[in-house]
Amino acid sequence: MLWADELIQKIKETYASKIDAGQPLVIRDEKTASGRVHVGSLRGVVIHGIISEALREQNIKHTYLFEINDFDPMDGIPPSLDQELYKTYLGKPLCTVPSPDGKAKNFAEYYGEEFIEVIRELGYEVQFYRSSDVYKSGKYNETITLALNNAAKIREIYERVSGSVRGEDWNPVQVVCENCGKVSTTKITGFDGTEVSYTCGNIEWTNGCAHTGKISPFNGNAKLPWKVEWAAKFKVMGVDIEGGGKDHSTKGGSRQVAEAIAREVFNTVPPFNVPYEFLHIKGKKMSSSKGAGSSSREMADLLPPHMLRLLLLQKPPQRVLDFAPDGDTVPILYDAYDRLADAFFTSGSDGDGRLFTFIHFPKT
Ligand SMILES: [Zn+2]
Repeated sequence: MLWADELIQKIKETYASKIDAGQPLVIRDEKTASGRVHVGSLRGVVIHGIISEALREQNIKHTYLFEINDFDPMDGIPPSLDQELYKTYLGKPLCTVPSPDGKAKNFAEYYGEEFIEVIRELGYEVQFYRSSDVYKSGKYNETITLALNNAAKIREIYERVSGSVRGEDWNPVQVVCENCGKVSTTKITGFDGTEVSYTCGNIEWTNGCAHTGKISPFNGNAKLPWKVEWAAKFKVMGVDIEGGGKDHSTKGGSRQVAEAIAREVFNTVPPFNVPYEFLHIKGKKMSSSKGAGSSSREMADLLPPHMLRLLLLQKPPQRVLDFAPDGDTVPILYDAYDRLADAFFTSGSDGDGRLFTFIHFPKT
C-alpha cells in the first residue's frame, strides 16, 4: 500500500465524525519568507498536496491552506544581500523590510511570490494567505489575550516539555515598537486587559531604541513568539492536518511545546501530525540560498512539475531524500518514472502504479 493511502486511512479514522458531518478538513503548511526558499521546503508542500489529492479522490471536503509567514522578524540576512544595508532591518517583521529588487511590495513578498509560483506550477490547489493579514484582521486577538493572561502557565509548559527556562519577566507576546518598528527587541512589562506597557532594548543580535510605550497588543500591533504562535494557528485556522520537519517533532521539540500550549492554554486539539525527513543535496542538509541547484525555483526550472513531484514523493515521509542535481539523480529519476508508468499502464493503480496517479495532476 502506498504510504499516502496509509496516512489517509489514519486521517479518516481520526476525523470520522467530522467527515460524516460533511465538515471540511483543514490542511495547513507554511514557509517563512526570510530568503530564497530551499527545495527541501517543497517536501512539506507535496506531502500535504498528496493528502489533499487523496482526500479529493474520495470526495472528502477539505481546504489546503498555505501561509507565507511575513510577520516573523528578520533574524538573519541572506548571504547574497548587502549585509550593511540590511543590518538596520534586523528584528523587524519581514513584511516591513524593503524588497531586494525595489519592486516587490516588501522583502517577504519578493521571496514568497517566487515560492508561490513554484507551488502553483506543481499543480496543487492551495489557498495562500499572509501571516500579517491574520494579525491585522484581529483573528489572533483572543489568543493574544489568553497568552498574556497565562504567561506563567506558558513558561511552565516550556520548562516541563522542553526543559527551557524562561525568566519570570518573560511574556509570550512582543509588541512592534512604535518608534523603531522592531519586534524582536521589545519586552512587555504589564497588561491591563486592553493595553500593554513595553520597553524596547538591546538583544544579543540587534539593538532596540530604548523607547517605552503603552499600546493595544491587538490587530497587528504585537506578535506571538513562534511556538505560541504555532499553537494559536492550530486554533485560529482550525487546522486538522499539519506535518512538519521531523526536527520539530522530537521529544521536547517545538511541536510538543506548541501542542501542549494548544491543549492547555488555547483549549484546542492539535492537528494530525506527519513528521517528515529532510531533503539532502549531495548528502548534506542545506539551508536556504546556499549553492546552485538548491532553491525551489532552480529545481522547478530543472525538472518538469511531474518529475519534481516524483522526486519528492518517491519515498515515504520518514525516509531521507537525497538529490544531486548535477549527478546521476536525474537519469535515475527518469528510470523510476518509466517503471512507474509501466506498472500503471500494465496493472493500473492498485499496486506499484499507484504513485503514478499522484504525480500526474489528478484533477478530478
Ligand atoms: Zn524600538
